[in-house]
Amino acid sequence: MTRPAPVRDDTAPRPDLEARAQALLAQMTLEEKIGQLWQVQPVELGAETPEGAPLPERPGLRDDIRAGRVGSLLNLADPALVNEYQRLAAEESRLGIPLLIGADVIHGFRTVFPIPLAEACTWNPPLLERAARAAALEASAVGIDWIFAPMVDVARDPRWGRIAEGSGEDVYLGGVLAAARVRGFQAADLETGRQVAACPKHYVGYGAAEAGRDYNTVDLSERTLREVHLPPFKAAFDAGAGTVMTAFNEIGGVPASANPFTLRRILREEWRWPGVTLSDYESVRELIPHGVAADLQDAARLSLTAGLDIEMVSRAYADHLPELVREGTVPEALVDEATLRVLMLKLRLGLFEQPYVDAARAEGFMGREETRDLALEVARQSAVLLKNGDGVLPLTPGAGRVALIGPLADARRALLGCWTLFGRAEEVETILEGVRQFAPDVAYVPGGTVRDADEGDFAEAVRAAEAADMVILVLGEDDQMSGEARSKTRPGLPGAQARLARAVLATGKPVVSVILSGRPLVIPELVEGSAAVLAAWHGGTRAGRAVAELLFGAASPGGRLTAGWPRHVGQLPMTYAHKNTGRPEGGPGAVQFGEPFTSRYTDSPNTPLFPFGHGLTYTRFEYGPVRVLTPEVELGGTVIIEAELTNVGERAGAEVAQLYVRDLVGSVTRPVRELRGFIRAELAPGERRTLRFEVPVSSLAFWRAEGSWGAEAGEFHVWIAPHSAAGAPGTFRVLGSAETEQ
Ligand code: BGC
Repeated sequence: MTRPAPVRDDTAPRPDLEARAQALLAQMTLEEKIGQLWQVQPVELGAETPEGAPLPERPGLRDDIRAGRVGSLLNLADPALVNEYQRLAAEESRLGIPLLIGADVIHGFRTVFPIPLAEACTWNPPLLERAARAAALEASAVGIDWIFAPMVDVARDPRWGRIAEGSGEDVYLGGVLAAARVRGFQAADLETGRQVAACPKHYVGYGAAEAGRDYNTVDLSERTLREVHLPPFKAAFDAGAGTVMTAFNEIGGVPASANPFTLRRILREEWRWPGVTLSDYESVRELIPHGVAADLQDAARLSLTAGLDIEMVSRAYADHLPELVREGTVPEALVDEATLRVLMLKLRLGLFEQPYVDAARAEGFMGREETRDLALEVARQSAVLLKNGDGVLPLTPGAGRVALIGPLADARRALLGCWTLFGRAEEVETILEGVRQFAPDVAYVPGGTVRDADEGDFAEAVRAAEAADMVILVLGEDDQMSGEARSKTRPGLPGAQARLARAVLATGKPVVSVILSGRPLVIPELVEGSAAVLAAWHGGTRAGRAVAELLFGAASPGGRLTAGWPRHVGQLPMTYAHKNTGRPEGGPGAVQFGEPFTSRYTDSPNTPLFPFGHGLTYTRFEYGPVRVLTPEVELGGTVIIEAELTNVGERAGAEVAQLYVRDLVGSVTRPVRELRGFIRAELAPGERRTLRFEVPVSSLAFWRAEGSWGAEAGEFHVWIAPHSAAGAPGTFRVLGSAETEQ
């Protein structure tokens, strides 16, 4: 075990820094304070430039920095330029306040890790902490000190393209991984000597966009808000995150970037969180099309009053707050509070002491061997083996002729996935390159392109399949098909790929399908027709090597789904943690006209094709019965549950044992299962391990009928199982009639 890295906690009180921040604030003009509340895009997006040339600098930027009218910049990754702008701020502005440099470092920087959804499938928080730390190291080397990640939005609808950027559908797992990523980004021992602040996003409810359409309306009950969407943010703050980004969406009629309930009541009054709130890109200006602000001035008033500190890009604050304060519409005290928080962040990061970055050393931190190895390990662990009929995988190197077919098999950029502003396609290893290391004579045929609906070279693909003993079919989405503004009504195989798959499957040759995507895809026919299916997502710089190792058995798949894999788009949104109805599927619903009137689809099972938590390995694990060591436990106590896990197969493998609970009778309805713990265990053949879970009763809390947070007494079911739809439960009872407080 490596020693855990020291981590910076941006929520801890720092009276020493507060005194400095106050002293500075006392010297600032109103315009200078408001300057700290504006984050500027340093380039002119959309400007016409010759191919490959950098975008031009935003006119007036340098004057604005010198005058103290700008507090931070975004998505700037040129260390020389960072130093130049920092010099204007630190040496040429009246008070010498350095800039914050924020950037989207979503899954790696130069070295690209698998997309966050894939990373989550490792169920390996220490590994993801190391990945986040490696990304922070590369980013900090070019002067970035604020990372707009992790995205902690709970996502239960693969139509939403941003499901790729988060941890999937689960609240508990989302919180654990959010905390790991925050600790990684905020590691206080980065070799660059610099500090990075994490920025969990998008606060809040963004993942619940109606019908999976990005930016769409969100209407949440207070219960769902508190039980599902808030906890991962709380976990990120508890891990030391001192900033948060608000969301584009509205929540029940009130846009998240001007929402006093979520920004003031929850963050400040209930959680006493001292951090900085930042809008999303122009989400303050978007209050106008949302229809709650008449103009930018109105938008500035609404957002600041609601508790939004920094405005990203649009200039409602910069242009209108001075007047709003002068005319008395907005109290200056609100500007002061926000400014103070921003100054505190800059002090915590040590920017006043060292605003500059060592530009000459920057390149030396990029793509280091240990970082690339880490990216490879995450890619290996993130792939999920969905199906492995007759144990067709792993393939034996050298045994039989292999055809590699599919437009993504030799793709580079596509493997980077969404939000890779700083990654380089030429550094990506393709799947073809990886496979050639195990099967040098592999026959490769693209079989068309990812997007075009034309037939392409199906005939050649079919010939290659017929001439082979085994086909590896690599299909899915490219990097531009998931992420922001990439919602889909049909999250399946784009272009002619479904037809290519049908033609190849029709040869009758055994087909191993490798799915590269930013989301679970609705591909029941392909799954049915393939002998084996590996969901390898967008695996980043080392994806090709990782996939090849998994296919040929040099590594064992250990990933588990963190979002259910649907059968049909009509099931969406969906989650394993759903509620029962009064007419559960399979229950005793009234029979009318010969049909049961239960809560089900008449044309599809309710269940997903592969449930949350599912993933196969190259070995077999057996679970012993659940043993509840504490059949009765007090409200303030801890439930202890054990089970034996044995690797009964022939190979080593990683199992993710998942602990689920169900509160059988509550003052309000409760989910049929909720994850409350997991253990990722690597076991040698024949090895047995006792899995022991300690679950504090306080973690069984929810938003009770009378509107308070706490657990309730009563009977619970508990499972220790390989996925969310497996296992036989044990029971325990929480004693008492009183409720605990959070
Ligand atoms: C996205 C954010 C991102 C920001 C800055 C927005 O469009 O929603 O996630 O951090 O842009 O690039």
